[in-house]
Parts: sequence; structure tokens; C-alpha cells
Amino acid sequence: MIKVQDLHKKFGKNQVLQGVDLEIEQGGIFAILGPNGSGKTTLIKSILGMVIPNSGVIKIEGKPIKKDWKYRHKIDYLPQIANFPSNLTVQELINMIKDLRGKENVDDLRLIELFKLQPFLKKKLGNLSGGTKQKVNIVLAFMFDSPLLILDEPTSGLDPISLLRLKDLINSEKEKGKTILITSHIMSFVEQVTNDIVFLLEGKIYFKGSITQLKEQTQQPDFEHAIASILQQSYD
Ligand code: ADP
Repeated sequence: MIKVQDLHKKFGKNQVLQGVDLEIEQGGIFAILGPNGSGKTTLIKSILGMVIPNSGVIKIEGKPIKKDWKYRHKIDYLPQIANFPSNLTVQELINMIKDLRGKENVDDLRLIELFKLQPFLKKKLGNLSGGTKQKVNIVLAFMFDSPLLILDEPTSGLDPISLLRLKDLINSEKEKGKTILITSHIMSFVEQVTNDIVFLLEGKIYFKGSITQLKEQTQQPDFEHAIASILQQSYD
């Protein structure tokens, strides 16, 4: 589904991605982990075509994405920071995004019901709490039913019930055969939704494999300690 080969990206003198190689098969959930500033968002944005790498190749379904924007129709994206226009209402924003993407079979009503957003539909986005904005962000990302779903920190600001609903939603999308790419700082969340991880450190892949393998390799009993152990090794 996604193949990344020897990807490099610099912002000025800051070498943010330093030769990333990654292959993600269709169907399944993959987590990209790493400390702040390790290049997770830059990698995701490169896949989305929002950041242009200095070198390297990204292929989606076997085709290089360079100068070919059509592949983006196959992707739904949940950005880490949703900068919504503050004077629009939730409903106006949903309608606007539907018009922009021009896709059929939009599933917004089910998602609005799932995240209990009906009371907020006529409210302006500028007046919503962070958690409610994140639920709107989730509705916008999940309503189009594309084969590839990219979620950058999807749990931000969510209450425990919404978090449960999000997990169920991610699992049901996986059941449909979608490929889902997630970044998250919340290890328990990652462990509940997937076993396949990539750990980025200073723009390089430091570990690629299953959480089970990571625990074995680091000889740690749980995921959080295994991640802490990787970080510790990298500082030594
Ligand atoms: P992560 O998502 O792992 O926290 P990012 O990919 O957001 O990491 O950032 C990696 C590094 O790239 C950081 O040092 C960040 O300051 C820098 N960076 C990201 N985007 C830009 C940009 N548009 N311009 C300049 N520097 C950037």
C-alpha cells in the first residue's frame, strides 16, 4: 500500500528525516512512534504530499506520488492541529468539506450520532472546547470511507467515552480492510489498537516490528518500559 525508500528531508540546516525506509502492507493498523521532534509528522506529511522531501521515493499502490496528486483521493487525514475557521458552525464546516471532496457515500450522520455532536452542529467552531473540536476533526476524517486513513495524534483532548468510541471506530475500519497509520503519545492506546509499530528517532527508523518483538528485544515486561528502554539506549 505504502512504500517509502531512503527518504531525506531538511528544513534549513535541520536534517529531519535521514533515510527512512518503510513498507506498509494493505489492511492493518500501524503506529509511528517517537519522541517530539523525531520526524513523525514530517514523514506523514511527506506521504500526504504536504511536505516535499529532498530525496527518496514514496509509492502508494506501486505508483510514485511525485507530481501526481490524484492518489490523495484515496486518503483520509486527521491532522494533529485542526485549525478550523472560527466563525463557521460545525454543520457549515462539515458541508464545506463534503463539497470540497465531492465524494459519495458520506457517513457523517452516523459519526455525529456516535460522538454525540448534534447539540453542537449550529455552534461556531471558535466557541467549542478542545475535546469537541477533536470530535469534529474525527468526523471529518472518518466520513469519506477512503482505503487509507492517516491519524496524527487522534486521542488529543478526548474524554474516556469518546476514546472508547474512537478505538471501536478504528477497529471497525480495519475490519473493512483499510490501512490505518497512527501517531500517538499514549502507549496504552497504541497497544490497544495495534501490534505493529515503527519507532523513529532523530529522523531514522530505530525499530520496526511488533510490540511483542520490542518487549523481547528490550527484555522489558511492558510496552511503556520497552519504549523507555529504547530512549535510554539512544541517550547512552
Ligand atoms: P514530530 O511529529 O515527531 O514531533 P516533526 O516532524 O513535527 O516531529 O518535526 C521534526 C523537526 O522538524 C522539528 O525539529 C521541527 O521543528 C522541524 N520542522 C517540522 N516542520 C517544519 C517546518 N515546516 N519548517 C521548519 N522546521 C520544521
